[in-house]
Amino acid sequence: MYDTRPFQVPKRTIMTPGPVEVDPRVLQAMSSSILGQFDPKFTSLMNDTMELLRHLLQTNNQWAFPIDGTSRAGIEAMICSVIEEGDTVLVPSFGRFGSLLIEICERCGANVYSIECEWGQVFDPEIIINKIKKLRPKVVAMVHGDTSTGRMQPLKEIGYACRENDSLLIVDAVATVAGTDVKTDEWYIDGLITGTQKCLSVPSGMAPITYNERIEAILSKRKSIEKGLVTDINSTRDVSRRIRSNYFDLSQLQDYWSPARLNHHTEATSMLYGLYEGVRLILEEGLEKRFERHRLNERALVAGIEAMGLSLFGDNSCKLPTVTCINIPEGIDGDSVRSMLLDDFSIEIASSFGPLHGKIWRIGTMGYSCQKSNVLHTLACLEAVLLRHGAKLNVGEGCQAALDVYKNLEKTQIST
Ligand SMILES: *Cc1c(COP(=O)(O)O)cnc(C)c1O
Repeated sequence: MYDTRPFQVPKRTIMTPGPVEVDPRVLQAMSSSILGQFDPKFTSLMNDTMELLRHLLQTNNQWAFPIDGTSRAGIEAMICSVIEEGDTVLVPSFGRFGSLLIEICERCGANVYSIECEWGQVFDPEIIINKIKKLRPKVVAMVHGDTSTGRMQPLKEIGYACRENDSLLIVDAVATVAGTDVKTDEWYIDGLITGTQKCLSVPSGMAPITYNERIEAILSKRKSIEKGLVTDINSTRDVSRRIRSNYFDLSQLQDYWSPARLNHHTEATSMLYGLYEGVRLILEEGLEKRFERHRLNERALVAGIEAMGLSLFGDNSCKLPTVTCINIPEGIDGDSVRSMLLDDFSIEIASSFGPLHGKIWRIGTMGYSCQKSNVLHTLACLEAVLLRHGAKLNVGEGCQAALDVYKNLEKTQIST
């Protein structure tokens, strides 16, 4: 026997670093009827989405479109399309998603030089810049905000050094775009990847990317060699430098997103409705206002956590504004606290990975989840659950401290 009753989705407050809650208007857009992928109404939605993405990603690049798949689909598409067997790649890593970049670059046959820093810190840019000068890598691949440790790496000086040394800078900005400033062009980023389920507040399933003409030149070169159009290798067709993935071949995807509309895979129409609506809502709110809302709710959350008597993990000077990492107090079972929050209060917060599992909790303040009521609700319930677990706290002070932050800052009329 099997169960044919409909699935009942419980109402949750999601305070993780993704997936996060989604604006009902995005969910509504996603329930619209299907259009064919060459229907002019649909192709004009594709063009409109590219235009909105350019604004979101703060770029004048011609190419800004989503890859179908989760964020790592965008990362794989970018990396496997740019990197060839034997290319030198530098990956400075300060958390789990740095390790993901190393793995994907290795799978593409790159000679990967990785440098790591202690989890909870980021790099002094000089260290990376010196490495770039010495190594002169074809690509520097790095994460902007690593959700596993809750840290954010300043990128502008690194971007400038890449440009000066003829290296390409490819950035995973999955956790930062639409939550805090990411200036693709101003920071000399050549290829940038983001995702939908973090600060964009759209369901998981697409990865918007953008890349400039430096990367486009590599795509064109590889394609013309594959087609035998380049004379420097005896003008015969040579598939040895062909992009190893069909699904993630950026030159083919670019042809599909260009006016030529060359067929590739079947576009995920409902996801695109959701992405368009999500990005439209972000730009309607305004990027600056949105970043300010993220900062305010983060500040209230941090004030509440500290007033309660808990401590934050990591170097505060490079804290990722969209994720707050909290040290689990001595003697408290972190997973048991998370389970009780979910089972009794319907609130989800996250643990972390590898060396940090069992040591920290992570609370996300991203997109539609990043609201005053969510922050206050989370603080109040976390206090109740911790008391239940026998923790020693400054009872009642968490919410009050957060309320003080809101009271002071609401005077300046930031909407929460
Ligand atoms: C969440 C996250 C990803 C995850 O990618 P998915 O494929 O969408 O799970 C990648 N990079 C960073 C920095 C992230 O925070």
